[in-house]
Amino acid sequence: MIGGSALLVLALLAAGMAASTAGLIKWAATARTTLRAGTVVFLLLMMVAMIGGALVYFLRPSAGGLVGGFWFASALMSVSVVVIFYAFLVEVRSQEEGRPAVQRGPRAGYLAAVLGLVLLNEVLMGWTFGLAAGTLGPGAADGALGLFQGIVASPWFLFTMGGEMLLTTYLLRDALPGPVAIVLAAQSAIMLLSPPALLSGAWRAFAIYAGSAAMIGLFVYLMEFIYRHRQLTAAFARYLVRLLAVYGAMMLGLYLWLADGNVLLFAVAVVAEMVLFFDTVLRSEPYREPPRVVWQLRPNWAFALLAGVFVAEVFMGALLDLQIAPAAFAGAFRPLPLAGPLGTVAYDAVYNGFWFLAATTASTWFLAMMGVEMGTLVYFKFRESRELETRIRLVLVMGMYGGFAVFFPSAYYAAVFPGAPSGAAVPLLGWSMGIGTEALGLGVLGVVALTYVIAGAASALFGRRAICGTFCTAALMYQGTTLDAMKSFNRSARVGHKYLGSRLSTAYSVTTGAAVGGLLLATTASVLDTAGIWHVHVLGADPTVFFYALSFSVLWYVTFVATPYLGTYNCVTLGYCYTGAIAQAFQKIGFYKLKVDSPEVCRRCTTLDCAKACPIGLVDMPGHFRTKGEFRSSKCCGVGDCVGACPYGNLYVYDVRHWLRERLGRPPRVERVHRLPMVPARPAAGPSAAVASAASANGPMPGR
Ligand code: SF4
Ligand code: SF4
Repeated sequence: MIGGSALLVLALLAAGMAASTAGLIKWAATARTTLRAGTVVFLLLMMVAMIGGALVYFLRPSAGGLVGGFWFASALMSVSVVVIFYAFLVEVRSQEEGRPAVQRGPRAGYLAAVLGLVLLNEVLMGWTFGLAAGTLGPGAADGALGLFQGIVASPWFLFTMGGEMLLTTYLLRDALPGPVAIVLAAQSAIMLLSPPALLSGAWRAFAIYAGSAAMIGLFVYLMEFIYRHRQLTAAFARYLVRLLAVYGAMMLGLYLWLADGNVLLFAVAVVAEMVLFFDTVLRSEPYREPPRVVWQLRPNWAFALLAGVFVAEVFMGALLDLQIAPAAFAGAFRPLPLAGPLGTVAYDAVYNGFWFLAATTASTWFLAMMGVEMGTLVYFKFRESRELETRIRLVLVMGMYGGFAVFFPSAYYAAVFPGAPSGAAVPLLGWSMGIGTEALGLGVLGVVALTYVIAGAASALFGRRAICGTFCTAALMYQGTTLDAMKSFNRSARVGHKYLGSRLSTAYSVTTGAAVGGLLLATTASVLDTAGIWHVHVLGADPTVFFYALSFSVLWYVTFVATPYLGTYNCVTLGYCYTGAIAQAFQKIGFYKLKVDSPEVCRRCTTLDCAKACPIGLVDMPGHFRTKGEFRSSKCCGVGDCVGACPYGNLYVYDVRHWLRERLGRPPRVERVHRLPMVPARPAAGPSAAVASAASANGPMPGR
């Protein structure tokens, strides 16, 4: 390792090279004549020659190496002159033939040459500077792959590349559409915050936290962007999916790096990200075309986006867990070695995959990270909502998530039960209401019983929204702006549209039966196991622990990502959640229902906005309003989007509060946001005239 002043000189040199390359890339992106394009290639080749010559010397730091480096640089510089000479000839011939010197856009071969040369420059620079400073990254001595990892996972590559990307974005800021420039700037910042760049523990911690925060910020921005822009350019839509695929691989790479020091996947992902970045800045024209991709009509695209975000988040969560609480994560996830006969390897692979996902999605830092991301989208929805009840519910959603998904299961649980097994392994403690038989669980059966009573009573009094619309983490996940916009898939998705409406179809009944039956079976097996009558474990865990993990830590997230195929809130619409089934049963016998002030207004309504706004896809509600003036469905989660959507303010949620006011002879409390007058679809006559006048009045409707 060299001294501080020499390091400073190298750093300044690297910064100079990065600035020069960024300038050349700007030139390459805007070059429209053969001569300009040839000049860019010539200058990039010159840079390769210079760095390559230096590399030859540092590989053999001797007089022979110096001469070799000199010859290498001279030879390549001579070759590079050919390029500019050829470009000059082409341009002269074009002028002689009267052809325009300005071309329509960069050609594929030219772009590939620029991209390849930039990449080559970076690799050579990382290698040369690493040798000069004696700081080549880990594995650099182990063959070609090791060398590749050592070069890429070094400060000379990662910082130079990140700085170069940031500067390029700045230089091309006027040529790029705003959202593309923002995403590229975020991409550059994430590259700069690469944890393997430095060996210091302080840097590692800082880069993991700051890099994760930057990535979460980027995901929030992207989610909100697609919520506000339902049409995208084809280029941007493609770019986002590729970027998220790269980030999925990068976060897995970082997890593997932190878990066992293997940096190969991270290095590959970095190069892929860099190629994606430069491909975008060099070919920005398609990003300025009119947006034509309606993403709500593209379930495959939406699925790829959600899957990319989710995979990146799972590994980011695991990375944060490993960094912040390695002992707790190691206790929750104990991988089996993938060795032995094929059957054993297959079992161990399933075991590892299942428990890795279950342990990560139930871990504090994954949930905290998801809470920040999805909670921000819920906050955006809060700002848009105008109904007081919806606003209060959304605040409760965020508070409940913070308390019951993050604080109590982690900080509080650790303080009250020090040394106890992970909270995720004791389903009794959560709101999931499993009936496990873990030692700790047996001591809190009273709490479990109380949880059942409270959940049942809340569902009976206020409807399922007490659980599914407020308390459950699903409310936060599905109620943010973007996921809420994905309710369009409830109607269009192949599977989702089969579950539309309030009817409990055969498929729904089978799924719910399997969920409740599975819970009872797991509980029985668990009790028998504890009593020593039947020794049974599933994937190495108590049956109830396994069943809880399967339901809420694995299946729930799988179906969440599959929203574009299954529709939103699919835990409700498909009926696979046993907690939802219990809440549903209590809702059926309780006070909760949707009521309208005037069935006649619904009969004359042509928008049916209430049905369109429902995230559960209860499309048959207008029919019930028209005939009975109310709608009662055990599937309804009471999120109240229908209430806010009714343009005539005709709809409201009825629960125990209304019942009490009726009994006490008190007037109903009225909250009206939309009070549009109803335009008659046909000449008003008879009772319709009265209804029309009532609907147009700014006061409450009769019958309320
Ligand atoms: S059905 Fe289950 S997972 Fe879905 S919102 Fe209700 S309680 Fe939550
Ligand atoms: S509740 Fe409102 S949106 Fe729904 S059918 Fe009635 S008037 Fe139309």
